[in-house]
Amino acid sequence: MMGRRPLRARIDPAAIRANYRLAQTRSPGAGIWAVIKADAYGHGQWRAVEALRGEADGFALLECENAVALREAGVSQPILLLEGIFAAAEVTAVVEYRLTTVVHCAEQLEWLIAGQRPEQPLRLYLKLNSGMNRLGFTAATLPRAWELLRRLPRAEVTLMTHFADADGERGIDWQLERFRALAGDWRGPLSLANSAAILRHPAAHGGWTRPGIMLYGASPFADQSAAALGLAPAMTLESRIIAVQDIAAGERVGYGGIFTAPRPMRVGIVACGYADGYPRHAPNGTPLAVAGQCTSTVGRVSMDLLACDVTDIPAAGPGSPVTLWGEGEGGTVPADEVAAAAGTIAYELFCALAPRVPVVLGKI
Ligand SMILES: *Cc1c(COP(=O)(O)O)cnc(C)c1O
Repeated sequence: MMGRRPLRARIDPAAIRANYRLAQTRSPGAGIWAVIKADAYGHGQWRAVEALRGEADGFALLECENAVALREAGVSQPILLLEGIFAAAEVTAVVEYRLTTVVHCAEQLEWLIAGQRPEQPLRLYLKLNSGMNRLGFTAATLPRAWELLRRLPRAEVTLMTHFADADGERGIDWQLERFRALAGDWRGPLSLANSAAILRHPAAHGGWTRPGIMLYGASPFADQSAAALGLAPAMTLESRIIAVQDIAAGERVGYGGIFTAPRPMRVGIVACGYADGYPRHAPNGTPLAVAGQCTSTVGRVSMDLLACDVTDIPAAGPGSPVTLWGEGEGGTVPADEVAAAAGTIAYELFCALAPRVPVVLGKI
């Protein structure tokens, strides 16, 4: 039975589908890996898979055991292991469950050589380090990779790289240049673009794109809103006011007293705190909506509660709906704006949604 504490995360599968379709129209001719790592950025791996089951060209995630679970649940599309295998023992699953796997280092190739089966093709994404400097082969290590690949005669290879600043000022040209220098006369398939590159750098679409954050309806850009990009929020965090305090000017609110009332105020207490995944470092003034009106937080976020200014929302009282982010009964608040106020990105807000928050499906 669903508990009575009013906090809910509402996940909208139709929004995930609509955002996937936008990724499709913005990646003309490309195949699309729906990135569902990190439990679909906090939206629930299975909810995302169900939303896109008949739709996605492929699913991309991290853990081999999750890929196997998808296969066992009947997912027939390609499945990509974004960081490849973490141990030699995972080669068996790659072969048996027809997983596509990134190879970013020689050791992974050696595991695959040792565990390959002659009759089985292997689908490999050879990752090139074009300047992110996390994973992938460089000019120094790539010759060895090509050498090892000769011992995987049934491998179908795609070249991939990942952009460090597709959403920022540096852009991608400098990385594309390095990528081309590494790739040499490669004419085979490519996979380059994350959400930011899909939306801003059509030159980088290559053969397969890898949208993540855009599927969940947040913007990859600090300077362009999700709504302006045509994205629909897939996660709404909603709750209710459970108490109201009328306080005098000069009174403080919450732990540490970081907010002092400049005037007599009505303060609404919301059933949501950092143990639910709401960022504790969200400062005074972080946006939220109450009973259809935008307002902002006051005082420090505590474990189970946060406070907001409802002085100018006379209709607000115990039971009033609150939208922490997304599109709810309380109003509309872009997750990107909450994240910006808290000095983070919507990716982190979504991924931090706590297991104790009950999830409901659909729109309000
Ligand atoms: C997470 C990830 C993506 C998706 O990035 P978004 O910014 O969420 O679109 C794409 N490619 C790789 C390799 C990733 O790890």
